Amino acid sequence: MTTLNKPSNQYDVIILGAGAAGLMCAIAAGQRGRSVLVLDHANKVGKKILMSGGGRCNFTNMYSGPENFICSNPHFVKSALSRYTPWHFIEMVERHQIAYHEKKLGQLFCDESSKEIVQMLLAECESAGVTIQTDTPVQVLETGEYKLLQTPQGKLQCDSLVIATGGLSIPKMGATGFGFELARKLNIPVLPTRAGLVPVVLDDHKLKPLAELSGISLDSITETDTCSFRENILFTHRGLSGPAILQASSYWQPGESLKIDMFPGIDLTAYLNEMRREKSKTALKTILAEKLTRRVAQLWCEQWIEDKPVGQLSDSDIEQIVSHCQPWTVKPSGTEGYRTAEVTLGALIPMRYLPKLWKARSTRACISSVKSSMSQGIWVGTISSGRGLQAMPPDSLFDL
Ligand SMILES: Cc1cc2nc3c(=O)[nH]c(=O)nc-3n(C[C@H](O)[C@H](O)[C@H](O)COP(=O)(O)OP(=O)(O)OC[C@H]3O[C@@H](n4cnc5c(N)ncnc54)[C@H](O)[C@@H]3O)c2cc1C
Repeated sequence: MTTLNKPSNQYDVIILGAGAAGLMCAIAAGQRGRSVLVLDHANKVGKKILMSGGGRCNFTNMYSGPENFICSNPHFVKSALSRYTPWHFIEMVERHQIAYHEKKLGQLFCDESSKEIVQMLLAECESAGVTIQTDTPVQVLETGEYKLLQTPQGKLQCDSLVIATGGLSIPKMGATGFGFELARKLNIPVLPTRAGLVPVVLDDHKLKPLAELSGISLDSITETDTCSFRENILFTHRGLSGPAILQASSYWQPGESLKIDMFPGIDLTAYLNEMRREKSKTALKTILAEKLTRRVAQLWCEQWIEDKPVGQLSDSDIEQIVSHCQPWTVKPSGTEGYRTAEVTLGALIPMRYLPKLWKARSTRACISSVKSSMSQGIWVGTISSGRGLQAMPPDSLFDL
């Protein structure tokens, strides 16, 4: 059990969930002089932060903006982000002398480890006088003017209760539907949820020919019916992953196909025509391998395209090749679900209801749910706050 300060049984603010959002909220409330207790049922804080960004935590994106959030109320996102920008979080990271670098497209990662971000949040909590208690399952007994909670150590009371128990993704890391269940009990509308930023899976018959490509990644433009992403795809032993697929998964609907342009930025027809003239004796698979990697090119030639010297390609051969690569159309049978999803799509509290509910006397202060339970999705590698690490600016959300 981690206890930074000794808990009493009365607090101004109790926050359930010591993830990124809960800790950021605790810091803001503590800095305002409130007595703050953070409770978590897991054995340590910030488990998802630790695994984020492959262990290096993609803690923010310099260029992220409201358009990178999937939300039914874009104005809410605009307002929240304008009050707490990526630069606020970067300032905190720099103040704690955490070395970081830009990986690409504005994505900032720790040079060393995600642990540094957790340590930074804990240090900020400590200096804001926040008490943190792990290994503490909680039952909410009352949500009236004063909130009453039951823990194994006894009853706790607070003026403001913040539910920051996160979404449903990665149950192994302690994720539960606690926030959603509480919302339902309080008659707060809960949007249907589903896994987001998640690898997709393919039926066995589609997967079999691709099995040997597991681990290979390729640049792509990956499109769903509604949007497209220029990023890498990754072949996996279950289907497809990589940033482009993760992004697309948040928009993909069951039954839809993904269109994967494996030659992004290249007019493949024109390119093959040029190769036909200039490298007529070179095998097609060698030409394709220049862009697709040798193994992908070879497999495509074994499965769908006839390999021959490019000089022998007819116009209709070229048409057929292009139809298998630009785009390669593939229909996933589903996603890997919450087991591996980075985020939960849908929302505990649809933003448009929030201001009203906030004012409703019966639910006041018990519907304060931060981050992943509130935002309905976020692009990969964009603002970490949207995904919890920078948290929604608590001062713009909560009267704590
Ligand atoms: C593999 C992976 C990689 C990721 N990479 C990145 C990245 O690089 N950058 C980025 O910005 N985001 C990343 N994310 C997403 C990011 O980690 C999450 O969006 C963010 O951590 C969510 O923060 P949160 O505080 O809302 O929820 P959580 O981190 O889920 O925190 C919720 C907390 O509530 C606790 N809890 C749950 N139920 C209860 C209960 N009943 N009682 C008490 N406590 C409870 C949990 O134990 C947990 O500690 C990644 C996610 C995953 C899974």
